[in-house]
Amino acid sequence: MTAILIDGKARAAALRAEVAIGVAAFAAAHGRAPGLTVVLVGDDPASAVYVGAKGKACREAGIIAGEYKLPADTAQADLLALVAALNADPAVDGILVQMPLPRHIDSDRVIAAIDPAKDVDGFHPVNAGRLATGLDALVPCTPSGCLMMIREALGDISGKEAVVIGRSNIVGKPMAALLLRESATVTIAHSRTADLAGHCRRADIIVAAVGVPLLVKGDWVKPGACVIDVGMNRIALPDGKTRLVGDVDFAEVLPRAGWITPVPGGVGPMTIACLLANTLKAAMSRAAS
Ligand code: NAD
Repeated sequence: MTAILIDGKARAAALRAEVAIGVAAFAAAHGRAPGLTVVLVGDDPASAVYVGAKGKACREAGIIAGEYKLPADTAQADLLALVAALNADPAVDGILVQMPLPRHIDSDRVIAAIDPAKDVDGFHPVNAGRLATGLDALVPCTPSGCLMMIREALGDISGKEAVVIGRSNIVGKPMAALLLRESATVTIAHSRTADLAGHCRRADIIVAAVGVPLLVKGDWVKPGACVIDVGMNRIALPDGKTRLVGDVDFAEVLPRAGWITPVPGGVGPMTIACLLANTLKAAMSRAAS
């Protein structure tokens, strides 16, 4: 048996096309397109690439993309003042402050300063709490995209055993909350988990969001399971080049799993598509309130 590859690129293109239709309808109804403003502090090259990709995807979907690039030594008070100005700007539906922030800035404080109605990353405690309590929320983009791919592979996941490896606020915890909302039986594994392999072997669904290259081995995977690889790890090759690999040992898992996401081309493209969907959702909710 060989797993079916879940094509994140194709799924993301379909979602982006759907969002573009929604954006055009919103613009026709309200006389303006939805707006997303991204704030980048410092010059981390990976963050600059993500911010550039987000802006491009916005424009392609008809969303107005704003961008602030602030120097690495920006004072926290100045960043909070910018967030306050964006909160107050009626043309801005979504605010995304690119993480990680420089060490002298308290990320939690900045996240908490964003208007929850404009929190398209879904990191604000109000949105995290709404998700955890089963209320409608802006949900973090990466786990949203993972859930779409899981549902497309498996259909109804009620009663399935799901193991989420990683407990970050960005991926692991909201992923577990989304799977629970779908009535899966959810285990959250993390760096202190005993017998991670044993937990994984029970799972119908494995979501690996760890940051450890090739952690999930072939014999950890129940035959036919759905394996979602969130990891993005750049590893050095013997020839001096580098390669992007996930948290799943793709070559080992491919012959055992039922479905698997590739890295790259799996979770990554879905994350950006879900950001566009969140921006449209925020614009529609704000217009209706
Ligand atoms: P994080 O560092 O905040 O969290 C990692 C989690 O993994 C922690 O909860 C930790 O307890 C757990 N962990 C660490 N070592 C472990 C081990 N040996 N066994 C079990 N659990 C272990 O990371 P994050 O922000 O959640 O990101 C995780 C990975 O996903 C990273 O590789 C990141 O680059 C990637 N990522 C990808 C996307 C995307 O769009 N594709 C988005 C976000 C994150």
